[in-house]
Amino acid sequence: MPDPQVEEFLSLVQIENYEDTYSKDIRDGKFFGLPLQALIAAEKRLRSERSIAYFSMEYGLASSFYNRFSTLRRIDEQNESREHEVFSNYRLADYFFTVRPSDLIDLPIYSGGLGVLAGDTLKTMADFRLPAAGIGMLWSTGYFRQKFWFKYGQAPEEMHWDPYTYPGLIPLKNRIKLSFKSGELVLRLWKYYVYNYTQDYAIPLILLDSNIPENSENNRHLTDQLYRSESNAIRIMQRAILGMGGARALADLGYNIDLFHLNEGHAVFAFVEKARGLSEEALAELKKHFAYTCHTPVEAGHDRFPFFELERILRDEDAKVAERFGTEAGHAMVNLTQLAIEASNSVNAVSKRHYEVMLQQFPQYKDKINFVTNGVHTHTWMSENFKRLFEKFEDRIGDIKANPYALKKAEDLKSDSAFRQEVFGAHQENKVALCNMLAKWKLDKDTFTVCWARRMAAYKRPSLVLQDINRLISIAKKTGPIQVILAGKAHPKDSLGFTYINQMLDKIDGLSEVYDYLKVIMLENYDIAWARRLVQGVDVWLNNPLPPFEASGTSGMKAIMNSVLQLTTLDGWVVEATEEMGRIFGYQFEGGKIGSEFDLHMAEDASKLYDALEEMARLYYKTNASGKIDYSSSWIDLMINCLIQSERFNTYRMLDEYKSLVWKMPEQVRVGV
Ligand SMILES: *Cc1c(COP(=O)(O)O)cnc(C)c1O
Repeated sequence: MPDPQVEEFLSLVQIENYEDTYSKDIRDGKFFGLPLQALIAAEKRLRSERSIAYFSMEYGLASSFYNRFSTLRRIDEQNESREHEVFSNYRLADYFFTVRPSDLIDLPIYSGGLGVLAGDTLKTMADFRLPAAGIGMLWSTGYFRQKFWFKYGQAPEEMHWDPYTYPGLIPLKNRIKLSFKSGELVLRLWKYYVYNYTQDYAIPLILLDSNIPENSENNRHLTDQLYRSESNAIRIMQRAILGMGGARALADLGYNIDLFHLNEGHAVFAFVEKARGLSEEALAELKKHFAYTCHTPVEAGHDRFPFFELERILRDEDAKVAERFGTEAGHAMVNLTQLAIEASNSVNAVSKRHYEVMLQQFPQYKDKINFVTNGVHTHTWMSENFKRLFEKFEDRIGDIKANPYALKKAEDLKSDSAFRQEVFGAHQENKVALCNMLAKWKLDKDTFTVCWARRMAAYKRPSLVLQDINRLISIAKKTGPIQVILAGKAHPKDSLGFTYINQMLDKIDGLSEVYDYLKVIMLENYDIAWARRLVQGVDVWLNNPLPPFEASGTSGMKAIMNSVLQLTTLDGWVVEATEEMGRIFGYQFEGGKIGSEFDLHMAEDASKLYDALEEMARLYYKTNASGKIDYSSSWIDLMINCLIQSERFNTYRMLDEYKSLVWKMPEQVRVGV
């Protein structure tokens, strides 16, 4: 029996192998278990309303737990989450046990914070009911899987997954052809829909894929690994696929795009694609339709390509546009950051501090640059325990689901004893869940627990808390036991990141004697599933980047949404916090010269970190004495301050600012798509 909704959907979206493969999951008004009607409306909307195209190399959608699709087909076992090993100073447990933080893997098309931000942004655009589409890449081998090699460091393993049985992901019949000096490249399109939290509105994410028989063997591999970097030729091609392929895909789908939002310089070839053959006047007009967000002040985050390499790959006409707008003064090189700034009328940094740094790095563009501080998506990162708690207090605080600004009202409940108890109780439940997962390592819910987890980049100083092990041991002996959890991947070509991991594993290996009062646990293969459990379940979130190199940082925002205290240097988003959320320590950027990201101030900052950690541990044990809780403790004030502060550091405030500062859509103008 033909279902009219399915018929309508199929007339708008050309699915490859619908009958054989996808008809089981797209039927009876449902798309993998969620309402099909929202998708029909989305497809119609994008063909008529002027829309925003949001480009990012990576997306971390938390698809294993947020708006998760269901499927009636068997999911390939490669899409099931594998077991993670653990390296701790309780080697016996490491030897016998592994952990698995989720059952399904998250769509493996992200590496870290940039991807999670892009995912959180699409979800919030859907919550705001904006006309928008996301553009990204279908990375067929993801980023990579991190394996520990006993204590000798990280072994990056190639990751494999099956897009054909990933719930909610569909291949399209559409093909995009791009021309290069070497010939034609054909791209297949995929779609994944990002629903709003009430599941009645959706935004398509279009993913580009070169792994099809029409392409040469080499070209088929172009979309295999995110941030693959062994040659500039591959890096240029990946960027051309995202930018040019993305712009062409939007046109092919008939979407009416008014604004191209570029994240990092990665997507800037969308401008080159659109600029082809335009007059000077039309070029000036085109720039009004581009916005660019810069996400890092760190040098390695800015792509530079010599003219000769661009000219060998791109058609002459395209290379010319890139060189005209992107040449770095005095060099025969194109800097994609410069190109993106030149291509866009609106340029923004991702925090106030990052904005100040950008003004120093790009003084010639100071009039164009603005800032919108990052946020995190409440519905994704706030634990169920805290959502329930806020429902209980809805008459006093308001509906934080619909309006996270209402979190500010937690201020009024600071001296409410029932609220204080519930906050501590909700946190303890989250902590118990984490401790249960790591029960074989004897993690305890009444022990002071600190976590550092994110990408292992040098400027983030992953090993700082292990810098002076004896000091750490002596604090634990004096104040009470301490549990430290560490996790993070280093990019496979980042030898400094590797060195950090080796050093950390080695230090942990030397700690077997002190396990009763100092447990140090390093988790393998940090990912979104781990991030969710850790930001919810620990007492203190440690954030120690070297100022001013953390453009924003977002993991701490996920933690404060769950009342987890911050132990942090003063950088990125933290500079804008107005409530006391824990302790701030270490080297501070006072303006003036930015300095070197490799001058890490390790010894001085470690010492200050330990002072602050000791204070926090003392206060913790005054608050929680082996399960006997002092609800009047200032620790609980700090927990509530964290919740209050979430009012600002979420993607709703962020999108409100993007709407007014960045996406002011010009009247009555349209790019010829
Ligand atoms: C949030 C998140 C990050 C970002 O962490 P920062 O502290 O901002 O560097 C990285 N990786 C994962 C998996 C995340 O969820």
